[in-house]
Amino acid sequence: MVSRDRLIAEGLIDALPEGVVLVDAADRVVAVNPPALALFPRLRPDMLLARGLRAPDALDCVARARASGRQERAIWLERVPVERYFELSAAPWTASGGARLIVLSLRDLTETRRVERMRVDFVANASHELRTPLASLLGFVETLQGPAREDAAARDRFLTIMGEQARRMTRLVDDLLSLSRIEQHLHLAPQTPVDMAGIVRHVVDTLTPLAQESGATIEAQTETAVVPGDRDELLRVAENLVENAIKYGVEGERSSRVEISLRVRGRQCVLMVRDHGPGVAPEHLPRLTERFYRADAGLSRAKGGTGLGLAIVKHIVARHRGRLAIESTLGEGSTFTVSLPLLPG
Ligand code: ADP
Repeated sequence: MVSRDRLIAEGLIDALPEGVVLVDAADRVVAVNPPALALFPRLRPDMLLARGLRAPDALDCVARARASGRQERAIWLERVPVERYFELSAAPWTASGGARLIVLSLRDLTETRRVERMRVDFVANASHELRTPLASLLGFVETLQGPAREDAAARDRFLTIMGEQARRMTRLVDDLLSLSRIEQHLHLAPQTPVDMAGIVRHVVDTLTPLAQESGATIEAQTETAVVPGDRDELLRVAENLVENAIKYGVEGERSSRVEISLRVRGRQCVLMVRDHGPGVAPEHLPRLTERFYRADAGLSRAKGGTGLGLAIVKHIVARHRGRLAIESTLGEGSTFTVSLPLLPG
């Protein structure tokens, strides 16, 4: 390749956001741009392509492009050091001096694949969650139309269960819609000043009846703290955490206290919800904020949970540029801590 062509080619590929490598007819690397180097750090000009790109599928793709004279594509998986998917397109190009080159563009598909996987899992999970109460509703409808048609006592019992199932589906759909709304606005941090002590008071007032039903008391400690945010969303965070503490963290006399505290630490407002219940085993902790993940699915369903509460909390906290930390010790209880930046000034 004449040096003028080489300079132009190098300048061009350096301006591209995708990983690009130029290879000559002898399979030697002519030029590599920085994004390609970031993906395959061993690549160097003048080395044989196979030394820097040790992927048989990719090399095969380059050979096919050379043989066919057309653009060819390959996708392959590298397992070491971590699983990553790559995509390669290899296109023949004849430089002005007559040199026959192959232009390789390289992309890391790992993140795209992960997001796609998550989307597929999410649709499968959401459908499954809806199908169970729906199947039960249909079962009861059939029973009421058939064998239990004249049985008033059975009808009342079945209608009560059907009402519960319908409310369960409504909660699920409401939670799914909340989650998608928050996700849509994730990049926009809300800016209205929100009085966090007011939020804590509100949550204590609204959840005290639920706590009393479970034989629990809510203890609150607050300082004055105002954060830039969305009041309804922050209320949802505090409500979900306290409700979970009552649902999962109250087991008899010993663990009947649910604590909620609000403190100012430097430039952060720290909201902490603590229970003294059975706690969560360490293997579940990192996954609790995933959609539909439950440490104990039976218990969650029995308590009317959708499996989306903590995912909603995580997304709201992220939208507020805050942090959520979960600590738990089996037999001692759990602490959920939300740190949010205070309103400046
Ligand atoms: P849901 O309560 O609807 O199942 P969440 O997303 O709110 O869904 O919580 C996910 C799971 O985390 C719950 O099913 C439960 O297993 C666990 N969990 C949440 N809060 C607590 C807590 N305070 N103590 C023990 N386990 C908890």
